[in-house]
Amino acid sequence: MPAAPADFPRSRSIATVCLSGTLDDRLAAAAAAGFDGVEIFENDLIASPSSAADIGARARDLGLAIELYQPFRDAEGTPHHRFQSVMRRMRAKLDTMANLGVDMVLICSSVAPDAVNDDGLAAEQLRLLADMASERGMRIAYEALAWGRHVSTWQHSWDIVQRADHPALGLCLDSFHVLSRTDHYDDIAALPGERVFFLQLADAPRLAMDVLQWSRHYRLFPLQGGFDLAGFTRAVCATGYCGPLSLEVFNDVFRQADPRRTAVDGMRSLIALEDTVRESAGQPGALAPAPALSGIAFTELAVDGESGPQLQQWLDRFGFTHTGQHRSKPVQLWEQGRARILLNSGVVPASPEQGSAAISALGLESQNPAVSAQRAAQLHAPALPRMRGRAEADLTAVAAPDGTQVFFCRSEPAGPYGWLGDFLPTSNEAQHATGITAIDHVSLAQPYDRFDEAGLFYRSVVGLQDDEAAEYAAPFGLVRMLAVRNVSRQVRLALSVPLLRRGDWAPGIAHPQHITLATGDIAHTADVLARAHVPLLPIPANYYDDLDARLGLDPELLSFLSTAGAMYAEDAYGRYIQLFTPVIGSRIFFEISQRISGYRGYGADNDPVRMAAHRAQRLAFT
Ligand code: MG
Repeated sequence: MPAAPADFPRSRSIATVCLSGTLDDRLAAAAAAGFDGVEIFENDLIASPSSAADIGARARDLGLAIELYQPFRDAEGTPHHRFQSVMRRMRAKLDTMANLGVDMVLICSSVAPDAVNDDGLAAEQLRLLADMASERGMRIAYEALAWGRHVSTWQHSWDIVQRADHPALGLCLDSFHVLSRTDHYDDIAALPGERVFFLQLADAPRLAMDVLQWSRHYRLFPLQGGFDLAGFTRAVCATGYCGPLSLEVFNDVFRQADPRRTAVDGMRSLIALEDTVRESAGQPGALAPAPALSGIAFTELAVDGESGPQLQQWLDRFGFTHTGQHRSKPVQLWEQGRARILLNSGVVPASPEQGSAAISALGLESQNPAVSAQRAAQLHAPALPRMRGRAEADLTAVAAPDGTQVFFCRSEPAGPYGWLGDFLPTSNEAQHATGITAIDHVSLAQPYDRFDEAGLFYRSVVGLQDDEAAEYAAPFGLVRMLAVRNVSRQVRLALSVPLLRRGDWAPGIAHPQHITLATGDIAHTADVLARAHVPLLPIPANYYDDLDARLGLDPELLSFLSTAGAMYAEDAYGRYIQLFTPVIGSRIFFEISQRISGYRGYGADNDPVRMAAHRAQRLAFT
């Protein structure tokens, strides 16, 4: 791979097809998110009640350049008798473009059933169209669709562009069309940059499916999927290409989501991509580097008059102690070891989904909270206004895509970020009766529309990395899970979402959230809880029969698991034992777990059985 002159910043653009709403909604959202330009998708213009000239004026008023008009389909390789109609269509579109104020049109490779497989003919016809465009001072970017009838690779499109040899004809390189077919893109760097007219960026999950369906439904913003967008972008920049980086993403969720959020998500992906490209080219990043994290400082639960006392009772049963009371807010601090849980009865529920208790905030132990906050702002993470009293810590909080407040802080009594100083000590003695030592991880169900956005948020803004991704069949639908963690595995989050948008029939826990508490000795913890008659979640006997059949566990271990109602998982590194509480309120529960000899996962294989057990437990009490 050649060293790329990653001379960012360059202009950032987004295709209107990435966003939902009317064309005006889309333009407004793109401008509000800070894009410099847009690609106007023809169908969006056709559906608009405004004239092309008015749309152009509106874009300019919003500070948006119109970078590209697209797509012009089925142009090259047209049988001779029909080519006059292609010329006529192009003439009309060039008129539209002149009114819009855009000087480049994208021609994508023909998919017409009667397209002729003749590169000479394709080059000749593109040359005629380029002549027509150049007379108007316009240019044509030719793109190989991965499913083009005869032209489906960038190399083939480049052959034809060279053959046509017209200064107004160049290439459009689209990362999806290239990377959906091959991982080899290094040769792109050898293209002459002045012949690369346009660069479109889209990521996608690695899927084995028809490429047209893959493209239409599953494209993602850069760094949200499995393609090497940074390497691809670096290769294109190495040509000397100096046009915009333009997002072109077709995605079922984006098509129906709030365009303002989608546009911010897209902008965040471009900013993060640019930094990844710089770093991969050995250049310093423009973003403040994500400071090291060293643990979950606290997890805050928003509670009401009913769930608050219930949660206090559960924390007491688990051996937590109410050690502090906030100086100015109705917030209790409960502690055991390094596990700290806040019960906040002053949070106004943001939505009915919140239920009677919900995880409302996460405190992340940052080596440098000020730099964490700076990076979050650079990546357009929405900062939350905080009310703070005199002598209280000045903590920056940003909203994660699901609304969870993420604080960057330090758990030390003094200093500007020492949040513990905000709590006045109670006279309660701390106890360590159950052996809970820390918060192992926090699991957060994500809103259906925000799952990929959430993954990018935690990777880019917080500096976490992907840990484990899974899809499984749960009792009430397919579930997708993505776990993210910091380098030292002291911060772990498990994000989950239904694979399909849920309907009204939702007998499972809607939007479940749980806190996993770590113990160094699950047998001891289970024993203490059993002696205190703490009602844990019953697990069906079938589960233990299956465990025995699959893994042939030591009979003593199996007997412990079934007696305690514990679940078991193992991976290449170690073993994992889990206990669960029933659901408290409408969506919260706790897990107590022990990682034995370096187990790295999250026990996700047990989730379907645990979900059914929660359903059975809820039915038993209704
Ligand atoms: Mg494209």
